[in-house]
Amino acid sequence: MISIENKSNCCGCSACFSVCPKNCITMTADEEGFLYPAIDKSICVNCGMCEKVCPIINKIPEKTFHQEGYVVQHKDEKILKESTSGGAFTAIADYVIKQGGVVFGAAFDDNFNVVHTYVEKTEELAKFRNSKYVQSDMGNSFRLAKDFLQSGRLVCFSGTPCQIEGLKCFLQKGYDNLITVDVVCRAVPSPLIWEKYKSFKSKNDKIISAEFRSKSPFGYEYSQMQLTTDKMKYRSGVESDPYLRAFFSDLSDRPSCYECAFKKRYRESDITIWDCFESYKYDTALNNNKGVTKILIHSEKGNALFHNICNDFEYKKIDADYLVEGMKEMIESVKANKKRDAFFTDAKIMNDEDFFRKYFPDSMKVKIERWFRRILNKIGIYRQIKRVIKAIKNR
Ligand SMILES: Cc1cc2nc3c(=O)[nH]c(=O)nc-3n(C[C@H](O)[C@H](O)[C@H](O)COP(=O)(O)OP(=O)(O)OC[C@H]3O[C@@H](n4cnc5c(N)ncnc54)[C@H](O)[C@@H]3O)c2cc1C
Ligand code: SF4
Ligand code: SF4
Ligand code: SF4
Repeated sequence: MISIENKSNCCGCSACFSVCPKNCITMTADEEGFLYPAIDKSICVNCGMCEKVCPIINKIPEKTFHQEGYVVQHKDEKILKESTSGGAFTAIADYVIKQGGVVFGAAFDDNFNVVHTYVEKTEELAKFRNSKYVQSDMGNSFRLAKDFLQSGRLVCFSGTPCQIEGLKCFLQKGYDNLITVDVVCRAVPSPLIWEKYKSFKSKNDKIISAEFRSKSPFGYEYSQMQLTTDKMKYRSGVESDPYLRAFFSDLSDRPSCYECAFKKRYRESDITIWDCFESYKYDTALNNNKGVTKILIHSEKGNALFHNICNDFEYKKIDADYLVEGMKEMIESVKANKKRDAFFTDAKIMNDEDFFRKYFPDSMKVKIERWFRRILNKIGIYRQIKRVIKAIKNR
């Protein structure tokens, strides 16, 4: 049976939980808030299925094949505004629904926890738009997806690369009616830190909406955290917002993300999507600060789907090598912040306010940076300055 000696060796995909014939595995939160399998040994029959479907134990070797690349921007302004980058995912999902299919993705539940769920109507797709920077709870989604597949429905399953490889291992065979879409993900943060942040910012008022990458009011290049409650609207950029600062300084990530077994260019999914902040390199017409998605297609199924949806986009075909050039998050794991252990220890013992103020004070440096970013964005040179800083850092 599965046993987690080293937490880096479990990405929390839930394949083991989903396959267990005796239902003796529960996905249980550890002290950092991440889910791991816990086994009731009294009912385990030692069938070995949980180990057989684990995507980390059964790591799929990377093999090269032909890939197609695109940069895309959805033509629908509302979809584009609500999406993280260019709205590629909604176009893919909408096509699947129009074929009578069902779409799985990460959404908020009523308490703004991030969970995997499915939708069958176009109007419901909005709940999947915008990246949620929290590890999603997979719940029963693998089993439900299998039921839909076996009943012959077209299924689109989206998620992080480890969730997609976990699903494929769980299914144990290919399905012609399955389309998988993964994001490039640098890492996923802890649900516990998200819980603390929600209570810190909302002051326990009722949360109405949350966006980790709101394009309003500054556009795609300087997207912000936006949290709306029944009493207030909060917005803050990546330099100021404590939750985004924790994520982008690699304090709050799952341990498996520091030794990610799924970072690679040639993937098991049909389609990989990620941010395009360099649209000027590919197509100046798309360089409008509204958001562009990069799409890398790994399969014939993915190609056929793209040809059915391409009219939803302004788009350009890009050589795949050029598209992935310099894309570190696709192939390299992030490194844990040296303060990570202390951060999680304090998360358990400190109240929300003191905790976030200790690690992310709104210091003079932060205030000046925020002021600069907003001024540069207002006068239209934010992107250029960001580009120069990135080039210097990458030297
Ligand atoms: C945790 C995370 C980290 C990311 N890191 C990077 C990065 O380092 N570099 C980069 O270029 N892009 C990254 N992305 C991808 C990027 O944020 C966008 O998802 C991508 O540009 C596609 O945008 P879109 O407008 O086409 O789709 P959107 O409409 O924004 O669609 C969002 C898609 O992401 C899925 N999703 C959202 N939240 C989660 C979640 N918590 N877990 C699993 N799936 C989720 C939804 O199911 C949907 O399929 C990350 C995404 C996530 C979720
Ligand atoms: S060995 Fe079989 S019965 Fe035991 S936990 Fe794993 S899948 Fe379940
Ligand atoms: S990686 Fe997935 S299958 Fe493997 S132990 Fe963790 S949750 Fe189970
Ligand atoms: S970085 Fe790797 S382990 Fe972490 S969520 Fe992404 S794919 Fe999974």
